Amino acid sequence: MFTIAKAKSEYGIWSSDQPALPAPGRGMVMVDVIAAGICGTDFHIYKWDKWSSGRIKTPMTIGHEFVGLISAIGDEVTGFEVGQRVSAECHIACGECGLCRTGNAHICEKTEIIGVDKAGAFAEQVVIPATNLWKVPDIIPDRQAAVFDPVGNAMHMVSTAEVTARDVLIVGGGPIGLFAAAIAKAHGARTVAVQEPNQARAAIAESLDLDLVVNPRHDDSRSKILELTNGHGPNVVLEVSGNGRALNDALDVAAPGATVALLGIPGGPVELDLGAKVVMKGIRLFGVTGRRMYETWYQVEAFMLKNPDLIDKVITHILPAREFAEGFKLMEEGACGKVVLDFQSLKTGAVK
Ligand SMILES: [Zn+2]
Ligand SMILES: [Zn+2]
Repeated sequence: MFTIAKAKSEYGIWSSDQPALPAPGRGMVMVDVIAAGICGTDFHIYKWDKWSSGRIKTPMTIGHEFVGLISAIGDEVTGFEVGQRVSAECHIACGECGLCRTGNAHICEKTEIIGVDKAGAFAEQVVIPATNLWKVPDIIPDRQAAVFDPVGNAMHMVSTAEVTARDVLIVGGGPIGLFAAAIAKAHGARTVAVQEPNQARAAIAESLDLDLVVNPRHDDSRSKILELTNGHGPNVVLEVSGNGRALNDALDVAAPGATVALLGIPGGPVELDLGAKVVMKGIRLFGVTGRRMYETWYQVEAFMLKNPDLIDKVITHILPAREFAEGFKLMEEGACGKVVLDFQSLKTGAVK
C-alpha cells in the first residue's frame, strides 16, 4: 500500500510501501482513498515546525481531507455498505465528555486527528470510525468531495461570525480564506474584502467576484478598506493568516464592536495591545477550530451543491499522489489555491 508519511525529522516527508491495513475493528470502516487535499496542517508537518515536532510521533502517515469508497466494514457498523462514496470528519472525538455531549465535539480534549495522531488519508486505504463518515451525493465530483474538511473550517468560521449585512475583511487568501470569502458572500455580507500579499492567491480572490482584494504590503490597503466600509472599517474580521502583524493591523482597521474570528495559527506567541485594540474598542474576539459535528457538514454540502464553480476556482491543482513533493513546493511558494492529490492515479486513472 502506497503511503505518504512523515519520517524522523531529518528525512522529511516520504512515500513508502506498507502492508495493506488489517480488517477494520468494531465500529470502524476501511475506505479506499480516491483523492485527498493537502492542508495547511500537512504543510506545518512538512516544515516540521514547533507545533508538529511537539505533537507528532513518527513515522506517521499524514493527510486528513479525503474522499474514497468504503472497502470493508467492521462489526456493529450500521447504515453503510461496501462501495459507498464517503468523506469523513478527521477529528475523532471521545463522544462521552461534557463538550461532546453538548454539541462541542470539535473542541473535545480527547480528540485524535487522523494524519496527526493516527494513520491518515495520504494512503491507498484509511481506517476511521463509521460515526465520522459523511456520505457524498453522487453529483459532487471527487475533487470537491476531497475538500469538505477545509470548506468546513471556512463555513464554521463564517457562520459563527454572523456576516449577513456586515462588512467582512478576510485576512489571508489561502484556500480557507478563499472559501470563507465565497461563503461570506453567499451568506449575504454587505461587502467582502480579502487581504493577501501573494499575487497568485490574490488573483484567485479576484476571480471570486468580491468587493475588494488588497495587498497589505501596499501603503493604500488601509485606506481602500476604509473607503469600502464607508469610513468605519470592517465589522467582521476573519483572520486566517496566522500572522501576528496582520492581526494587529486588522484590529486597528476594524470598526468598534467588530467581531474578530481567529483561525490562522501563529508560529509562536503574538504581541498585542489588548487594552487599546480589543477592550476599549469593544471587540468580540474568539478562536475557531475544526467543524461543528455535524451541523457544519450539512452547511458545506448545501453550499457545494449550489456553488460548485466557486469551489473549483479555489482548487487550482490536482496532482498524481506520487507527485506530492510538487504539491508541497507549490504551497511553499504560495503559487496555488487548494492542491488535491489523486490517489486513483495509483490504480486506474485521473479523478474527476
Ligand atoms: Zn485540513
Ligand atoms: Zn469528548
